[in-house]
Amino acid sequence: MIIFPDLPDIQVEEVAVAEEITLTLRTTSPTASCPSCGTVSSRIQSRYTRKLHDLPTVGRPILLIVHVRRFFCKRSTCAQKIFVERLPDLCRPHAQRTKRLQEALRQLGLKEGGQAGADLGSELGFSGSRDTILRLVHQSERPAKCEPHVIGLDDWAWKRRLRYGTLICDLERGLPIDLLPDRAVETVSAWLKKHPTIDTISRDGSSEYASAIKKGAPQAREVSDRWHLVKNLAGCVSVLLASCLTQLRRAEVVAAAGVEQVEQPSGEPPSYQRTRAERRAQQARQAERQARYEQITALQKQGMKSAEIAAVVGMAERTVRHWRERGDIPYAGPRKPRSSPLDPYKTYLLERWHQGCRSGAQLERELRAKGYKGSQKAIYRCLGTLELFVSAPSRRSSAKACSETESLPNPLLALSAPQATWLFFRKEEDLKAEEQETLRQLRQASPDLETAYQLVKEFLHMVRELSGERLEEWLDKVEASHLQAFQSFVTGVQQDKDAVIAGLTLAWSNGPVEGQVNRLKLIKRSMYGQADLDLLKRRVLHHDKKSLERKNKKKQAQQEEHLKIPRMREKSTNLQCTTSDISKVA
Ligand SMILES: [Zn+2]
Repeated sequence: MIIFPDLPDIQVEEVAVAEEITLTLRTTSPTASCPSCGTVSSRIQSRYTRKLHDLPTVGRPILLIVHVRRFFCKRSTCAQKIFVERLPDLCRPHAQRTKRLQEALRQLGLKEGGQAGADLGSELGFSGSRDTILRLVHQSERPAKCEPHVIGLDDWAWKRRLRYGTLICDLERGLPIDLLPDRAVETVSAWLKKHPTIDTISRDGSSEYASAIKKGAPQAREVSDRWHLVKNLAGCVSVLLASCLTQLRRAEVVAAAGVEQVEQPSGEPPSYQRTRAERRAQQARQAERQARYEQITALQKQGMKSAEIAAVVGMAERTVRHWRERGDIPYAGPRKPRSSPLDPYKTYLLERWHQGCRSGAQLERELRAKGYKGSQKAIYRCLGTLELFVSAPSRRSSAKACSETESLPNPLLALSAPQATWLFFRKEEDLKAEEQETLRQLRQASPDLETAYQLVKEFLHMVRELSGERLEEWLDKVEASHLQAFQSFVTGVQQDKDAVIAGLTLAWSNGPVEGQVNRLKLIKRSMYGQADLDLLKRRVLHHDKKSLERKNKKKQAQQEEHLKIPRMREKSTNLQCTTSDISKVA
């Protein structure tokens, strides 16, 4: 039979083509075996029809009407006196869909989720509601138990700042293997105990995971993730850079305006509970902004316009004007977009303004007639912005003329602490010529900055070349430098030294886990946060054969790449002569 090549015992009796294609089928085998005792029987008791939905063909859904028979069981001792003949290759008992349609719907559910899968299925002519798809997904077999050797742990947010789960990846295969409902020590250690084959675990700097590993898998070697190490170091360096930039700005203000003492930054705005390091970083950033503001005020006193000031301090003209209008620096916390009652009328206002109507009173009358209920002030403020917008180009050109005639402003004053940090952490050969020049000036600005730069460079060298054996030496250099900013980082490293050395020596990292966490977030959001852990887990752990093959190919290529690493290391040892000069600075 061409339509059902894998079902030799089924005969097609009739084909009706309409909106839907209906196939009437009949079973042809003379006997059937009892599902309870397996006895073969040929005594037919009765017949009935079953309706089954099948995969669509030529764009039309297919309905199968199957005539099946009931048989008497011949064995007198069998509890089942009558049984229905089974069609194990076509469908499951009592199912309304063929096996292949069920499988297609399940794949849709795993890939797209319940509702999205049902929507896509209906476009493609697959019969199955959201609930059917979800039921099939929940019924799917769980992936076979694996015995991983190298795993990575990372947390993911059920709800940010409130509830977190744990994602576990097999780093050798690059696949997620389990999802835990939280990141508590008990949960993670209990999971680890069930997997005694694990010998290496990559994780971030979290103390919770560290204690879970000590409790659940004491045999395993811990690997601290390199990316997190660099991120923590960048946080510390950023604080140092912020305070150095603050000093530079204050010095500039004092030199330019002869101002004796400048006010200290105002108190920190209320916020959520933070660690001491976070508070210190925030204070440093706030101080840097304060210094910037003082510089703006000083330049303003010299009679400079916003556009000119903006060019000198490296900020947007709008921000400079905003700060001047406020008479203070705004709080740098997360912003909430504010809507105004004027928003729906702005297009109209702009249109009238372009037509030449500049009268605030006239425009207000027109807007009120259109139903505007907001304040008069909002209208005038909006018109004020439009005025500025028109006059801005002339200001800009005057600023340009000014900067061309006068001496160039100090480029360091145009740097923010994050920009400066970024200069420190990028590879020198990736920097543009002007960035290299800024970096050079930055390093010359203070001996502390030069020391910090060299320490960062050496640390990044360890990260890139996996030369963790030099960590001890590096820590000594930091000690000798007496740089306060590195202290919290060094304390963290000291507390977790073995894992850090492993992270700076072994090739394993949390990169693949981070990738899977991103995938998890995407899946979670596609279900609008309505999925339970089981559904989320099934979708996250699901990998079809095609994507597995693709992954394996990629991994093979990477492994071949890894074989080249020893040669690179040989090269890196030659570079050590340049780093020995650093100890002089340190
Ligand atoms: Zn039987």
